[in-house]
Amino acid sequence: MFTLPAEVGDARILVIDDDRYSGAHVAQMLRALGHEPLVATDWSEAISLFDESIDLVLLDMVMPKVGGLKLAPLLRERSVSYVPIVFLTGRDDDESRQRALAASGDDYLVKPVSAIDLQIRVTAMLRIRRLTQRLHARAQIDALTGVGNRRAFDDVLERYCSVANRYHRPFSLVIVDVDHFKAINDTFGHSVGDEVLVLLGQVLREGVRNADEVFRYGGEEFAIVAPETLEDGAMILAERIRSSFSVVTRACAAGRQTLSAGIATARPLLTCDRRLLFKAADDALYRAKRRGRDRVITACFDTAKRPSLI
Ligand code: GH3
Ligand code: MG
Ligand code: MG
Repeated sequence: MFTLPAEVGDARILVIDDDRYSGAHVAQMLRALGHEPLVATDWSEAISLFDESIDLVLLDMVMPKVGGLKLAPLLRERSVSYVPIVFLTGRDDDESRQRALAASGDDYLVKPVSAIDLQIRVTAMLRIRRLTQRLHARAQIDALTGVGNRRAFDDVLERYCSVANRYHRPFSLVIVDVDHFKAINDTFGHSVGDEVLVLLGQVLREGVRNADEVFRYGGEEFAIVAPETLEDGAMILAERIRSSFSVVTRACAAGRQTLSAGIATARPLLTCDRRLLFKAADDALYRAKRRGRDRVITACFDTAKRPSLI
C-alpha cells in the first residue's frame, strides 16, 4: 500500500469550488490520501475558513461573484506563511493557465482530475509547504541559545500588543541583561562568554511557563513575553530567573554571574504600543543597573503614552 512520504504528513487542505458535487468528490480523494479536507462553495466561505493552519488550497477558477483568479491574491494577502495554491478548473486552454500563474497560482489541474494526478500535485505542493515552514521556523531562532531571535521578538511583541488592544488581555514584558558581561569576555574569552549565554538561554526556557515566550534580542540581552501576567506575576518570574542564573553559573568557568531585569506590563483597557512598552521595560532595566545590578525593577506603565518608573 502507498504511504505518504514522512516529510508531508497529514495536511489541512481547503477545496474551493461552487460545484458541490465536484468539491465533495475532490474532498473524498484527499481523505483517501490521509488528509483533512475543508470545502468552501464561495469566496466568503473560503475566506472565513482560511487561516495559517491551512497547508494547501485547491481553487476553482469560475465561480459566481469572486472567481478563483481574484480570490487567489486575496488569500495570499491573508497569510504570513506561504500556502501553495493549485487551480483546479474545467478550463483547458493556455490563456487560463497563464492567468492562473499571474494570479499567484502555483500549479494547474484540469477537471476531472485523476486520483494519481491529484496525489502527485498535492504531495509536491505539501513538500514545498513543509520546507517553507521549516525555513521560517529556523529564521526565527537564535543559533547560539536556541531561543527566539530579534525578528521573532519583534513579531511576537507586535502581535501581543494587537491582541491586548483588541481583546483587552494583559501581558508582561521582562527584559533581562547579564551584568558586567563584557568583563567575562575580557577575562575568560569569548567562548566562556558564549557558555554563559547558553546557560542563560536554558535558565529562561526552564524558568517560564509553556505559554510564555523567550527571545535573545541582542548580545547578552534577552526578553520574556508572558501572556495573562500582571506586574506581580512577572516579578515572581523574573526573580526566579535571577536566582537560578546565579546558582547555575556557579559551575561554569567564569564562576557565579548575575543579571538585571526590567518589567513593563500592558494592562487591559490601556492602549499598548510596542515601542513604548519596550522603552518602559528598558528604562526599568537601566534603573536596576544604576541601583547596583543583580535586581529586578518594574516600570509603572499606567498608560502606554506616559510610562513612568517606580
Ligand atoms: P552591564 O552590567 O551594564 O550590562 O555591562 P555589560 O558589560 O554586560 O554590558 P556591555 O553592553 O558593555 O557589554 C556587552 C558585551 O556583550 C559586549 C559584547 O562584546 C558582548 N557580546 C555581544 N554578543 C556576544 C556573543 O554572542 N557572545 C559573546 N561571548 N559576547 C557577546
Ligand atoms: Mg550586560
Ligand atoms: Mg547589554
